Amino acid sequence: MSDLQTNIARAEAHLARFRDTGVLNRIGGADRPALSGATFDNHSPVDEGFLCSVARSDATDIDAAADAAHDAFPGWRDITGTERKKILHRIADAIEARAEEIAFAECLDTGQALRFMQKAALRGAENFRFFADRAPGARDGQSLPSPTLMNVTTRVPIGPVGVITPWNTPFMLSTWKIAPALAAGCTVVHKPAEFSPITARILVEIAEEAGLPPGVWNLVNGFGEDAGRALTEHPKIKAIAFVGESKTGSMIMKQGADTLKRVHFELGGKNPVVVFDDADLDRALDAAIFMIYSLNGERCTSSSRLLLHSTIADDFLARLKARVENIRVGHPLDPQTEIGPLIHKTHFDKVTSYFDIAKQDGAQIACGGNRVGDTGWFVAPTLFTGATQDMRIANEEIFGPVLTTLTFDTEDEALEMANAVEYGLTGYVWTNDLTRALRFTNRLEAGMIWVNSENVRHLPTPFGGVKASGIGRDGGDWSFEFYMEQKHIGLATGQHHIPQLGA
Ligand code: NAD
Repeated sequence: MSDLQTNIARAEAHLARFRDTGVLNRIGGADRPALSGATFDNHSPVDEGFLCSVARSDATDIDAAADAAHDAFPGWRDITGTERKKILHRIADAIEARAEEIAFAECLDTGQALRFMQKAALRGAENFRFFADRAPGARDGQSLPSPTLMNVTTRVPIGPVGVITPWNTPFMLSTWKIAPALAAGCTVVHKPAEFSPITARILVEIAEEAGLPPGVWNLVNGFGEDAGRALTEHPKIKAIAFVGESKTGSMIMKQGADTLKRVHFELGGKNPVVVFDDADLDRALDAAIFMIYSLNGERCTSSSRLLLHSTIADDFLARLKARVENIRVGHPLDPQTEIGPLIHKTHFDKVTSYFDIAKQDGAQIACGGNRVGDTGWFVAPTLFTGATQDMRIANEEIFGPVLTTLTFDTEDEALEMANAVEYGLTGYVWTNDLTRALRFTNRLEAGMIWVNSENVRHLPTPFGGVKASGIGRDGGDWSFEFYMEQKHIGLATGQHHIPQLGA
């Protein structure tokens, strides 16, 4: 058997139980179908084959989960940070032990290539370990003495929170949002994306087997417009941590207004990679290709706009085109595959619609621009050239293996183009001129910028975007700022004068 056939057989074995039982909700430590009995079918992006049925929940299921999270909150809040740390490390251990199952499930459910998903479990485990180690200090505050008072601050967990995640790298993103919530002492209701429910279910099972008390983490499946919406409107849910599209973030803000929901949004991007002619062009080429064509281009931090100094553009584009034409599209479980199928027909239709849009706007398709095969949602890695910043392909998030290239003559022009979009998640700048790097990054509108590097995550640093790319930051202590409330306590140090009325 080839590596691919072996992997398919192993993946089928891991997923067989979901085919039999479907993906159920997990509420208060118990498996629950949707209270209405409704389900929806989940299909593989590889060949549209049936993967499993999934609970199609509504507001009544969200009610049950919010009640469970509410009831579990005092117990979880009040156990020591050291105890929380131990449980979160045990979750990390169990994630590592089930790495193959997680990787294979993620590949078949989302279409992401195994070469990247092999690390999904390890990255998820790292997220748990990072926040586990911070759990004992989560409540730490400051001492701010004044002449008459000893002022101290402390932090307390905000309460039960809702976590809503998208379908791109759903396992890693779920751990990234849920680990800090648990470390802070919050309880959680998680609503994963309807297109990719499987690893969220594996994750909650792992957490409970590792000793997380029932009700601390609840999983409710379903569609955004019913289960998702009900979660954002629920009065017992104190905050919503959301990762997804900018327009959904805007809807959630409205939906949460009546209950004054605290929100944290990680949204879309149209991120520039700016290459100046003094840069190390070999490394810039590798990084630009990696940041748009890895993870099927379904990546919020992808470098989807390449801004090239006109003096080097022709040569750089020729080398880029040769490399893009060489990228291997194939079955996600084939170890050789670099790009797998897009998640779903709806998304495939969106991505491929930009092939015509590019032509209508007057850009050229230097390579790709077509479907690959006639089953599944495979798209050839695509390169648009001759684009200008006013075109839709230079402004809208396509979220596929599609790169738009533009050229500039001066640094000011590059900056203007880089900042011309509604988004501001990441930026990548390639130059060996230190002063230019400082000047440019200072004026670039993005929450995260890398100079002479692809996106390399370091968990203590802040993760998030500006403009339509988000509100709030994750990582380091920033995650706790969201999941916790600051509290000030002033203790009189003596008999200071208290103004007397009516005396
Ligand atoms: P999406 O906004 O369509 O869906 C995300 C989640 O929101 C899903 O679980 C969905 O069911 C739910 N949802 C939809 N409508 C809702 C509503 N009215 N109320 C409550 N929940 C609702 O996003 P997607 O297509 O699944 O994911 C892709 C998007 O996510 C891209 O825009 C990408 O850039 C973004 N993303 C951002 C980051 C980041 O860190 N900034 C990371 C990953 C993905």
